[in-house]
Amino acid sequence: MTKALFVVSECAPLVKTGGLADVAGALPIVLAKHGVGVRVLLPGYRTVMAQLGKTKTVARFDALFGGSAELLSCSVAGLDMLILDAPHLYDRDGAIYGDATGADWPDNAERFAALCKVAALIAADGIDGWTPDVVHGHDWQAGLTPEYMHALGVTTPFVFTIHNIAFHGNADAGKLGDLGLDPARFTSEHFEFWGQISALKAGIVGAAKINTVSQTYAEELLTPDFGIGMDGILRARQSDLSGIVNGIDVDVWNPATDPNITPYKNAAGKAANKKALRKTFGLGQSSGPLCVLVSRLTEQKGIDLLLDALPALLEGGGQIALLGSGDPKLEIALLEAADTHANLAVKIGYDETLSHQMMAGGDAVLVPSRFEPCGLTQLYGLRYGTLPLVALTGGLADTVINASPAALTRGVATGLQFFPINAQALANAFVRLCDLFQDKATWKTMQRNAMKQPVDWDTSAATYKDMYARLTEVAS
Ligand code: ADP
Repeated sequence: MTKALFVVSECAPLVKTGGLADVAGALPIVLAKHGVGVRVLLPGYRTVMAQLGKTKTVARFDALFGGSAELLSCSVAGLDMLILDAPHLYDRDGAIYGDATGADWPDNAERFAALCKVAALIAADGIDGWTPDVVHGHDWQAGLTPEYMHALGVTTPFVFTIHNIAFHGNADAGKLGDLGLDPARFTSEHFEFWGQISALKAGIVGAAKINTVSQTYAEELLTPDFGIGMDGILRARQSDLSGIVNGIDVDVWNPATDPNITPYKNAAGKAANKKALRKTFGLGQSSGPLCVLVSRLTEQKGIDLLLDALPALLEGGGQIALLGSGDPKLEIALLEAADTHANLAVKIGYDETLSHQMMAGGDAVLVPSRFEPCGLTQLYGLRYGTLPLVALTGGLADTVINASPAALTRGVATGLQFFPINAQALANAFVRLCDLFQDKATWKTMQRNAMKQPVDWDTSAATYKDMYARLTEVAS
């Protein structure tokens, strides 16, 4: 059995701010079925520590970036977890990446360098009689791992998955000493990026294989528009870069067994959920599609486009139920719009149960992102027969079959895509959505197609397994 160490800053169900946590929580379970044993190394944030049951201390560190720490082994929801309990870094009020005002923690570089350092130590010495064959880091928070492995002389292959390139994890060059990094490697070949330490670049440069979470995003990342400064570095590693699309946990997201909803096996069973959802959001009856949107509220997610295109949907009798939190300006704009439009209902917050109810009760799920590495809510939508209306970018391009005339003729469409990514194209897509919704036979066919589309982890887990196998063959 191949042994892999995941290094990751969030993992469902313990702690989640976005799709990264879903991946870290679901992929290891499926990899196990493919003969890969994964242990997940996660920071012991206050919220994580509060949820742990029985743990075993498997290592102690006297001086880890300003304090002592312990490594705890435990099992959570079928996951084999290694929790880094470092109270000076992780036991604090506020969110996992920043304080209550939304500002990043000033010591984020140290907080995640500690995670990487411990990953390297595990790769070097093993833990509890277990030594990984592969170390698999996710996003910038795991990016410094190969630097620390190199310093320890560890040659275990490192795989780096980019879930979102927008976050670079840059730190001031003055932190080189504090982070215990080799100043001789503070060069453009290694982890120096425009005069700063870049954890993301360290991960890309130090990885044996790099991947991102869809084929289209892997191609987009090589362009200046999407690469956000890393496109040149990625082009240099192009032969080692691939796209492996995310799946979803099809047990957690199963309309036939979901405990949060009135369960259903086919789309006809959505009616009771739609009724309940309208009630939850205070929406009345309407002739058009009930659209749902569940998202972080940031510039990336195209919420401003949605507000600009809203009239086209409302004129077609459509409605929106929206759940999200994030940028205060977007939150206010949404709440104000909801005050003036009876068919737009907004809830600000984070609510896992409600997100399930929205997928069950909606007719369509909206994902108007400016860029989207993979996107998960369109996959939930497919599984729940809630047709995705998405921007044509990244994983949204790869997972939805647009209702083009050709796709409709062949009876294979599963949703709608719009391009270019602007308010006018979204408004046009809203008009198409409302028309399609009135064509009950076509809508039904699309729902059937959507619910049949495989959205599980099986194929992608096999791809990761093959990648590990090739790397470990080379390494041994
Ligand atoms: P990202 O990782 O960029 O946030 P994804 O679509 O990949 O976007 O993943 C987002 C995940 O977070 C999904 O599981 C989505 O349902 C969940 N999510 C986002 N915002 C909320 C919210 N306000 N309430 C509940 N779940 C949310």
